[in-house]
Amino acid sequence: MKVEVDGHTVTVPEGATLLEAVRAAGGAVPTLCNDDRLSPSGACRICLVCAEGRTVAACVTPAAEGDRIRTDDPRSLAAARRTLELIVSELSEHALELPPERSELVRACETLGVTRDNFRGEQIPGRRDDSHPYVKLDTDLCIACGRCVRMCDEVQGTFALELVGRGFATVVAPGSGGSWLESDCVACGGCVDSCPTGALSEPGFLDLRPIERVIVTTCGYCGVGCALDVHVREGEVAAVTPNHSSPTNRGHACVKGRFAHGFVHSPDRLTTPLIRRGGDLEPASWDEALAFVAGRLLRIRERHGPDSIATISSARATNEENYLVQKLMRAVIGTNNVDNCSRLCHSPSAAGLTASFGVSGGTNPFDDFDRVNCFLLAGANPTEAHPVVGARMKQRVIQGASLVVVDPRRIELAGYADVHLRPRPGSNVAVFNGLARVLLEEGFADETFLAERAEELDALRDVLRDHSPERVEEISGVPASELRRAARLYGSAGCASIVYGLGITEHSHGTDGVRTLANLAVLTGQVGTDGGGGVNPLRGQNNVQGASDMGALPDYLPGYQRLTDDEAVARVEREWGVRLDRRPGLRILDMFAAALDGRLKALWVIGEDIAQTDPNTHRVEAAIDACELVISQDLFLSRTARRADVVFPAASFLEKDGTFVNFDRRVQRVRRAVSPPGDALPDFEIVNLMAGALGADLGCPTPDAAMDEIARVAPDFGGISHARLDRVGPIHWPCRSADDPGTPTLHLERFATASGKAQLAARGYLPPGEDSDAEYPFVLMTGRRLEHYNAGTMTRRTSNLDLLPQERLEVNPADAARLGLSAAERAEVTSRRGRIEVRLEVTERVAPGQLFMAFHFPEALANVLTSDACDDVTSCPEYKVTAVRLGPAGATS
Ligand code: SF4
Repeated sequence: MKVEVDGHTVTVPEGATLLEAVRAAGGAVPTLCNDDRLSPSGACRICLVCAEGRTVAACVTPAAEGDRIRTDDPRSLAAARRTLELIVSELSEHALELPPERSELVRACETLGVTRDNFRGEQIPGRRDDSHPYVKLDTDLCIACGRCVRMCDEVQGTFALELVGRGFATVVAPGSGGSWLESDCVACGGCVDSCPTGALSEPGFLDLRPIERVIVTTCGYCGVGCALDVHVREGEVAAVTPNHSSPTNRGHACVKGRFAHGFVHSPDRLTTPLIRRGGDLEPASWDEALAFVAGRLLRIRERHGPDSIATISSARATNEENYLVQKLMRAVIGTNNVDNCSRLCHSPSAAGLTASFGVSGGTNPFDDFDRVNCFLLAGANPTEAHPVVGARMKQRVIQGASLVVVDPRRIELAGYADVHLRPRPGSNVAVFNGLARVLLEEGFADETFLAERAEELDALRDVLRDHSPERVEEISGVPASELRRAARLYGSAGCASIVYGLGITEHSHGTDGVRTLANLAVLTGQVGTDGGGGVNPLRGQNNVQGASDMGALPDYLPGYQRLTDDEAVARVEREWGVRLDRRPGLRILDMFAAALDGRLKALWVIGEDIAQTDPNTHRVEAAIDACELVISQDLFLSRTARRADVVFPAASFLEKDGTFVNFDRRVQRVRRAVSPPGDALPDFEIVNLMAGALGADLGCPTPDAAMDEIARVAPDFGGISHARLDRVGPIHWPCRSADDPGTPTLHLERFATASGKAQLAARGYLPPGEDSDAEYPFVLMTGRRLEHYNAGTMTRRTSNLDLLPQERLEVNPADAARLGLSAAERAEVTSRRGRIEVRLEVTERVAPGQLFMAFHFPEALANVLTSDACDDVTSCPEYKVTAVRLGPAGATS
């Protein structure tokens, strides 16, 4: 539709507001209550314009065809000025003393010519709340516009805030009463980011010294891949805010990406290489350290062959860095012994999705959540582990989408679910087969889709004969009636999305779990179609997708090209100028076994603290100790680094350039905001230097040159370059050429399997690797907490530690009462591998007989307990099922 703004005609979409029309015409009117992330509220009434002779609030007035709008109408401007005078009149002196770049209110006053002295309203003494480490409240500056409340409600979905008081005394406050720290706030920072006056602020912006530059980069915590603006002051990170124009996070973030950046300038950072001499790690120069490592590696290779050396590459590092690591191992050392921590989380997704659909990646873009009307959320707790995804999912459910949660634990989203299935840990395959059977029996299958685009239906039907809902109830404890309800919700939804996480993959039969879950989307035609919601794994670490995409895997070259693929191997050999060994290398758990039996002599661990995060800690530590040479490349002296022979100090994601790939296959830019401390270097430079010390040149002097080479060797990345990403923003792979826009949705024409059809999986239920028994009567599950990340190496060096200072073991009240244990008491947990002590939390979140804890804290090392049981296809550990005993602390000492 066409409207006229100050004499200029512009075209705006149906439903556009006058404010959008003004902006489309390149104009501006001051606003205070408006935020593009929120629904318009029209609360402040200062965006007054004249439309067709009437003075109206532009943010809430829809434009009509042919409207003539004036932003310079004297009557409207005078009314806006008077309104703003009234707003300002109640504020204290310092409200207008903030620099304009920190306060929309100050900018509005400048635009409309309003000063503090124009008018005096009633002065109500305000109060400060500094209780929270990140969110600081000064009610003297609050104008009760309600943006903070609406951010919390409409974007984050926590509903932690409200406006309290009346008239001039109206201000924001936590809805629970009490201090901000004690409130329900999850510190996503949305309220602070939206506040137009500085009433809500954060430490980095309470410091009024100017910000020198703002760098847009990608979050280095989880796989959502939020774009962040890094505000740099005097060479240091002053604050991090969500990027408002990012298509991924749309101006939202979580407590980790938003606030947990203090680790960057921690005094604990490694600033120089270390070499173990006489039992102690001592500082060394880079030349010394590189020469030391190169000499030892060459000697080991000469004596024991290239397969006596292995590298664990890093899901925290960039694509370019992972590419370089695997190139060094394959082209310089001469082995395929390279793996990354996707082995420990989503390798069953890679194997399962490849077997079912032909490609190892989530099938649909995050943006599709906007049209989903049923989520099947399985084995994932996104409001804690992937908070921006969790928030968006919650909003969609509030808007009316149905939700089926499959999780033994009562996660937050279970409170919003239509059906919450709580299977016994280890029984996922039975539950998914039960759902498949109901879908088929009750006519929810898409017969046309199945006939044209899927195979192996008969084999699946055979397996499903043994998976009636009643039989599934016996195996899993999920009531048959609930299973049927869940299947009906999923099967009858127009657009249904499967979203899943490590609760599906980290099992002895994790690949079967992924495949039987994927069956549901195939049966109902929800994958590979325009209207379907697909199958979407929530990737754990920031670049766990990219590390695998780049070939940091023992059996795949970059772009998931198999070592058995002659054409791919020839392409890589041509580019690298070497002959490749085509035998698959060692997986991470096999590396530990090889170290323990003497086959592996050297292990290079990049950006992982395997002594904390990998299962069966005592065995991992024994494997580290068995190697002749262990190199740890990290930000901090981790548990692994403390056992290493050489430590390389590495740069964090805020100190490097490159790209990450997020959970929906978006390749996104990472940009250096600050310099690494001391002699610490980006992994990219360290790997290049290491190659040089070994007498080789990897031919990729810069990250953008590496991406160009990736495009040449991996067809799925053929159209991606840094220059293009800088120009157009994130691109979903596959993107095969410079004019390929990328592929947000996979398999629309055909599946990438040999036959072009989806492969239904006929996999029956098998018991987990370990189960509870009379001696170890509880099942321990591990997972994540909102405030911390993985080994906690970064988050425990920030004020997130004030929000969650220690781990606690979740135990059901009935179990606690039976054992005479009470909340906050320390308890002892023992498995067949070891024993730990940890504080208790008595909660209904876990079912009787089940326990839950995270492994963020070295003081409560859950992996001392976990077992070597792993997925039969991919060797992904069974972190989700460990048989343990629980008792009072000190019971067995
Ligand atoms: Fe970072 Fe994930 Fe939080 Fe986004 S949701 S800010 S990617 S940790």
